[in-house]
This record gives sequence, C-alpha cells and structure tokens, in this order.
Amino acid sequence: MSTEPQAFAVVVDSWFDGERRHDAPATFLIRDGRIEDIAAGDLGADLARRRVAVERGGFLMPGLVDAHVHLFLDGAPTDSKLRSEHLKQPLEQLTEAARASARQSLACGITLVRDAGDRHGINNRIREEAADPRNGFSRVRSSGLGVKRAKRYGTFMAMDVSDADSIRESVTKLAQDNDEIKLLLTGIIDFDAGAVTDEPQFTLEEARLVVETAKACGRRVLAHCSGEKGLAIAARAGIGSIEHGFFMDRETLALMRDNQVAWTPTFCPVHFQWAHPEAVGWSPQTVGNLRRILDDHARHLQLAQEMGVTLLLGTDAGSMGVRHGHAVFEEIERYLEVGLNLEAVLQAATSSVRRHFGFDLPRLARGGLFDGLLLAGSPFADSANLRRPLAVWAARSGEEVT
Ligand SMILES: [Zn+2]
Repeated sequence: MSTEPQAFAVVVDSWFDGERRHDAPATFLIRDGRIEDIAAGDLGADLARRRVAVERGGFLMPGLVDAHVHLFLDGAPTDSKLRSEHLKQPLEQLTEAARASARQSLACGITLVRDAGDRHGINNRIREEAADPRNGFSRVRSSGLGVKRAKRYGTFMAMDVSDADSIRESVTKLAQDNDEIKLLLTGIIDFDAGAVTDEPQFTLEEARLVVETAKACGRRVLAHCSGEKGLAIAARAGIGSIEHGFFMDRETLALMRDNQVAWTPTFCPVHFQWAHPEAVGWSPQTVGNLRRILDDHARHLQLAQEMGVTLLLGTDAGSMGVRHGHAVFEEIERYLEVGLNLEAVLQAATSSVRRHFGFDLPRLARGGLFDGLLLAGSPFADSANLRRPLAVWAARSGEEVT
C-alpha cells in the first residue's frame, strides 16, 4: 500500500459551488478526500508534470441529494398487486432491494439520500453499509422507524404511539439509532375527494412533545404532512422539515419562514399518478383533481421561494412510479416548470439539504470534504446535462455539527 497521500485534480470549464455558479475554468486539487485548493484556470498540464492524475470535464457541482426516499421500496413497478407483494418479501430480499436503490442513486449522481422511514430499519443497515465505498451506495441519512397513531396511515414505515409517556419513551429510544425522527402527522390525500379528509394524527401539543423530546436527544423531526389542519400544526410545532405539504397556504409559509421550518414538496408521486392515471384506474374527474392539486402546489412552491422558506428537493422515491436516482431529475423539472431558476433549484438539491442536516461545509469549498459530480457539459446550457455524469465522488465521513 502506498504511503503517498492520495491526490488528484479535476479541471472543468465552469462549476457550481452549491450556492453560486462560476462561469470560468477552474482546477480542483483533491488530497485524501478533501479539497486542498480551488484555483482559477486550467492547471492540468502543470499538475500532470508533477504526476498528479487529472480528470477533465465540462462542469463540476456538489453531488445531488434526494431529501426524501424509501430505499426498501422499489418505485419501478406500477402494478399495485406487485407493489403489495414486494412488501411481503422476506427481510433479506427487501434489504437487497434497498441496496439496489442506493447503488442506482449513486450511479445517477446522488451522493446522499435521506431515508424517510421503513418498518424494518433496513435504512439504518444500509446507512452502515454505505460507509464502505466499495459497496457503491449513496451515503444515507436515516430516520429509521417513524412514529404514528394506532390504526392510522404509515404502517410500512412507523410504530404506534399513544399518550404523552409513550411519545417520550418511543422518541427517546428511536433517537438512539436514527438521524432524524419521522412523524406521521397526517394521513394521505384522498384523490377522489381532492382533499385530505381525515383529522391530523396528533394535536399541536403532542407534535410539540415529539419535537421537544427529539431535540433533547439532539435530533430534528421530519413530518409527513398534507392538508391545512396538519400544516398549521407542523408550522407551529417547530418541526425541522415538512414533507409533501400539499394544500399549502400563505399563512403557513410565513410561519415556516419565521420558525425555520424547511419544506420538501415531493411532486413526483402525485405527478406520476396524474401522468399515468391508468396505473391506478383514476376517473377523469380524479385526474382533474390531481392537476388542480399539482398546480396549487406549484404556486405555493413559487411563493415559498419568494418568501424565503428553506426548500429541500426530495422525490419520495420508492413510491409508485418514482424510481430511485432518476426521480431527482424529474423533481428538478417540476421545480423549473414552476419558474424557479436553475441556480435556486440546484441549491435545493445540494447545499440547502446539507445545511439543513447540519453539515458545517455544505458546499464545494477549500478545506471541505470532496463530494462532487462531474458532468460533460453545464446544466445551465442544457439541464439534460445533469443526466450525464462522467464521475461521482461521494464523501463518506461526517463533518456534521450536532
Ligand atoms: Zn415518503
């Protein structure tokens, strides 16, 4: 084994640091997994003379992040019978499915995913396995097993809690293994009715108890939440991030901005059902509801950006029709359709998520861990360039402030 420090250089025509684009050639010198230097211009020839390996490409940016996935679910099958059979497989097969998801994500240039819950804790296992680069997985931040109300939505990813004591006890225990606490705050959307028709699973007081208990253990809460009643609770309870957040309104967005609650809108699963109603057998009227819900969601995403709410990009990969890795590009398309500029969208898909997770250097900068995606051409010239990674480097260690 060589005792020489591992060094190589990446030379690109332009780059994005996670917050700003830089439209000039630059040379990145990487040593032992860290960015030792970022120099203006093409220093490739000089470095090659000093026997430093040089990689070249059109564009460099931080690895993409998917802030909402379920690794153990396979998004590709769209037949509901196949999907329920998938869940009945033995643990080892589900774990294999999760490994394939983590591998597929990295191949698409997604270097970090946040798993938003699974009943078996496969996400935590994959998180450990992802620390070994030989597995070729995206790095995993895991919310393990979530918490829900008995007889309510979320059995595939959460355990039941009841009174205040059981909330305290369960959240404290879950916080030992999980990077964040997943709270199933509401049910799901009734697409035929075009609304969230049931009551939230928890009151404001109970949601606050979840947040405070998690905080005492050094953890934040991500909440599955849609519908105005649930959203009003989530925005007031000091949740870390609202996941999905359909039927958003301006007042809730203002509270989210003031209380520093981030938003992961997850267009993908609803968009899939609108684009492929035959997969579920939706009536034309329900397809109309889906379109209205998506348009309303788009309007509120634009409003959230204008108001300064922290936006995270997550896909809910593993949901019907939402494929691990590939779905990130579709979610990016949705954000662009809304009218957000690409710089803001890529920020939501890179540095904003890392900052939300507490990474102390959430962008490409001197001294930081190198986590990068090398592309043939700039996505600012053509967003399709995002889908053509030349090389992906995933940072494996922490650097998180907790
Ligand atoms: Zn989910």
